[in-house]
Amino acid sequence: MSARILEGKVFAAEFKNDAKIKAAAIKEKYGVAPGLAVIIVGNNPASEVYVRNKHKSCEELGIYSEVIALPEETAKEELLAKIDELNNDKKIHGILVQLPLPKQIAACSDEILERINPAKDVDGFHPQNVGKLVTGQDALTPCTPLGCIRMLKSAGIEIDGKRAVIIGRSNIVGKPMLHLLMKENATVTVCHSHTKDLAAVAKEADILVAAMGKPKFVTADMVKEGATVIDVGINRIAPKKLAGDVDFEAVKEVAGAITPVPGGVGLLTVATLMNNVVFAAEKQLEGEK
Ligand code: NDP
Repeated sequence: MSARILEGKVFAAEFKNDAKIKAAAIKEKYGVAPGLAVIIVGNNPASEVYVRNKHKSCEELGIYSEVIALPEETAKEELLAKIDELNNDKKIHGILVQLPLPKQIAACSDEILERINPAKDVDGFHPQNVGKLVTGQDALTPCTPLGCIRMLKSAGIEIDGKRAVIIGRSNIVGKPMLHLLMKENATVTVCHSHTKDLAAVAKEADILVAAMGKPKFVTADMVKEGATVIDVGINRIAPKKLAGDVDFEAVKEVAGAITPVPGGVGLLTVATLMNNVVFAAEKQLEGEK
């Protein structure tokens, strides 16, 4: 039997609606809308599309939004000064620096991300937020893995007690996903490029998360019958064609539920960001009372 298709647009609409209701309640209670500032350095076309989508979503949901476009040759000190300014700006509750950064400052990405006030770090990349996530405290959490967990819950897919396998151990997806799944009481294995017999490990999973950036790497023989397969990968395989990390057509015949690419996890990321902005705003405004 063919798998249930977990359509990103359905869950994204639900998450955005939540954010819209909460943004309106914040405006009503505190007299200010939640505010997001996105800094983009240089002219990376993919980054420009992502930033436009974030700005548009804010406008739709009643979230104040500023896009700060800095030239390609921006020096580290100029970028840090801009972050300091936004850290002190009362209209702004969430700050994100769109990655990747141009090459002259890419090596300083950690220092730049650490300059953001952790309370405004809506990407959840600041070590203080990472530490809180690892120790099970309330934290701003990276949007893509958080969106996946929210999707599983909304779809009624049980996580508690399940075997979960994540392929990929990046700071943006794999590692936060490990902690989020563990928090939901899954038993989690994380695979990476040194994992031996990855196919056999993947096949043990009730919930299999592919986040490696290798088109169609996960094949039907690596998936347990009835498993939930979450495909985080976004790979451009032709000028106008995207593929995930999962061989969707074959795996959907084995899996119980599966996210497509495009049209799956990618749509959850911005919707979850909107929820992070609202969460950050609420905490900051509550603290100012
Ligand atoms: P990274 O390149 O940072 O990490 C990839 C991970 O996959 C690494 O841990 C790497 O292992 C592992 N890996 C690579 N090749 C193999 C292999 N052959 N076998 C086992 N493990 C392997 O990628 P990201 O986490 O940033 O992104 C992963 C994918 O998700 C990409 O396609 C990206 O475009 C997409 N993405 C999608 C988002 C969305 O909104 N849907 C958001 C973020 C990312 P090792 O550590 O050993 O090198």
